[in-house]
Amino acid sequence: MEKTEILGQEKLLNNLKQALNQKQISHTYLIEGQRGVGRSKVANFLAMGILCRSKDIKPCYECISCMKIKSHNHPEINWIYEEKGIGIEIIRNLKNDIQLKPYEGEKKVYILCDAEKITIPAQNALLKILEEPPLHANIILIATKGNSLLPTILSRSQRLKIHSISPKEIEEYLIEKKGLEKHRAKLISSLSNGIIGKALQLLEDENFQERRKKIISITKEILNNKKHQILENINFFVDEKEHIDEMLDLLMVWYRDVLIYKDINNKEFIINIDALEEIIEQSEKITFNNLKEIIYIIEKTKQNLKNNVNFQMNIEVMLIDMANRV
Ligand SMILES: [Zn+2]
Repeated sequence: MEKTEILGQEKLLNNLKQALNQKQISHTYLIEGQRGVGRSKVANFLAMGILCRSKDIKPCYECISCMKIKSHNHPEINWIYEEKGIGIEIIRNLKNDIQLKPYEGEKKVYILCDAEKITIPAQNALLKILEEPPLHANIILIATKGNSLLPTILSRSQRLKIHSISPKEIEEYLIEKKGLEKHRAKLISSLSNGIIGKALQLLEDENFQERRKKIISITKEILNNKKHQILENINFFVDEKEHIDEMLDLLMVWYRDVLIYKDINNKEFIINIDALEEIIEQSEKITFNNLKEIIYIIEKTKQNLKNNVNFQMNIEVMLIDMANRV
């Protein structure tokens, strides 16, 4: 039977498995971590273990309950998700529903996604449920950061933190399980920030290679210091705004490659290996100090965008500042 695999989270799953089999399951869990690290998979694994009918090791992956979960068809798992945030009405419904005995088996599980977006009145209502939980139900909260929840909710939850993993682990996964060539696996893993979901998203994104080509062509324009042409790229950044983190990371990885090549004259550590000639040319033309400053400018831009500085102006300033450093 197929087991649940969540890259880099084996220890967490083993601990959970131990708790499940020693019947040390908490009533409420809070799974914390960035989007894409495997939070829903951990929630699903936990629910599977709670609902499993096996008398032996749970989850068994074989009983009727485990099979139904695998085919996303289990009536006693309730995924609760609301794009605008979970409000009081949803929690009131939950309060009524949770009192009802399960139709199938002995247990039911509620999974609340984006728990940081549960409104404060709804959190207070949820707290009432957590204070007197029915024995037949478990609640799993999923959040980016648990600290955005009321301390009274946190104190009633067992917190499970899911951390990002090393890009190297992702690189190896992409080579071994997805059959990627080493240079492509290296590029994608270096843009993933250690988040497997992000790596897989890049892998499936048909426009990613196009954006990358464009970013490389922008570095050429910067090298030639054609300011008019450089500023024409603003529209590209505005159109692709939702990918801005990725595009800035692409720029960062590019100039790091140029810097590394300039430093050690060796292609072994170059990530953009398919554009080696261009890397070499730029490494010959840009000084060490300017390369360091360009990398600093990109970092500063990322920071500014996080602080909600005007998008277009920030990108304009970045491109001009970079062109002034070549
Ligand atoms: Zn089972």
